[in-house]
Amino acid sequence: MIIQKIELLRLSIPFTAGTAERKTLGQAQDDDAFNAASPRHRQMQSLIIKLTTDTGHIGWGEAFGHGANPATLTALQAMVAPLFIGTACRDHLATLETARRALHGFGSTGPVMYALSGIDIALWDLAAQAAGKPLYDYLGGQPRPLELYASLVSYGGDPEEVFRQVRRAREQGFGKIKLHETRYEAIAAARQALPAHEGELMVDVNCPWTVQQASDIAERLRPLELTWLEEPVWPPDDAHGLAQVRRAGVPLSAGENAAGVNGLRALFEQGAIDVAQPSVAKVGGITAMLHVFDLAREYGVKVVPHCFYFGPGLLAVAHLCTLLPQDVAVEVPFIQFEALLYPELDFKPRMNLAPVPGLGFVPDPQVLERYCIERLMID
Ligand SMILES: [Mg+2]
Repeated sequence: MIIQKIELLRLSIPFTAGTAERKTLGQAQDDDAFNAASPRHRQMQSLIIKLTTDTGHIGWGEAFGHGANPATLTALQAMVAPLFIGTACRDHLATLETARRALHGFGSTGPVMYALSGIDIALWDLAAQAAGKPLYDYLGGQPRPLELYASLVSYGGDPEEVFRQVRRAREQGFGKIKLHETRYEAIAAARQALPAHEGELMVDVNCPWTVQQASDIAERLRPLELTWLEEPVWPPDDAHGLAQVRRAGVPLSAGENAAGVNGLRALFEQGAIDVAQPSVAKVGGITAMLHVFDLAREYGVKVVPHCFYFGPGLLAVAHLCTLLPQDVAVEVPFIQFEALLYPELDFKPRMNLAPVPGLGFVPDPQVLERYCIERLMID
């Protein structure tokens, strides 16, 4: 199988977050325009990559993401995608390595790496299809109904709304829930709605604090028995600072903003985190995720992948989670899309991967057409 053409599609699909119509989602902050969980957003964007081979096979990938999509699209068009035209799928690991080396000067994270990550996912999809196996099987994973955890959008720190939404997620059967809130009152309201003996509560604060501030807040949060506190320190790759905050006794997670596999390694070496969160469409695709899994095992760190995706990236994470322990749940946004790109986006607390060759991404062609805001072909 030879890659003949690569189509790049930017999608934007409106969603609702289950808040009362007149009630706003709280105040957006000045610096969160590029944070996908911000209360300011009403649409979710996805950058989807479609590889077509000379045999008519199609491999799907997704590159990060959201507000960075125009930049990643340009990186794909101008630099990354042309490197893969005319290459043989059976050589995909060598082709990816050659591309990574050719592009190394553009950084270990950022749009070029996101672009490579998306192509990597699509190539693994094709490789598994060529082997006639579902991706989880091709990777050596254990098929199982996967638990999903509800990743709530930000409700702007409003404790009442947070309480209501956590209850709503529980009523829908989610036993693991993650907030995107920084106010103590909002986090405490969530814990009230989901007591520690009834479910797991995680809190993602998106890197707001100094090491001292984060340590003080972690002390205050400790009685709430959070499963993890995510990215408490600015900047997010301050491994030394995270290690200090960790002494407050609250489990910490980070990794979605790490610069590639070695960025994760730096977190492990410093003893900075309890939970690693590599992001498949940022860190270097499935190839890099497999390296991170090996490293994490070596350092005894749990992996729970980051996943704020709704295209092939989400399915890639689901397949990868079959390689991880049973209690690792797949992150899904707690929102309702105006239209479903594929059936699995009607999120239930459990997901079954279809036993079909490859990633099993089968988008609804009408939804793909209707919500596509930009489309490019490389051939
Ligand atoms: Mg996060």
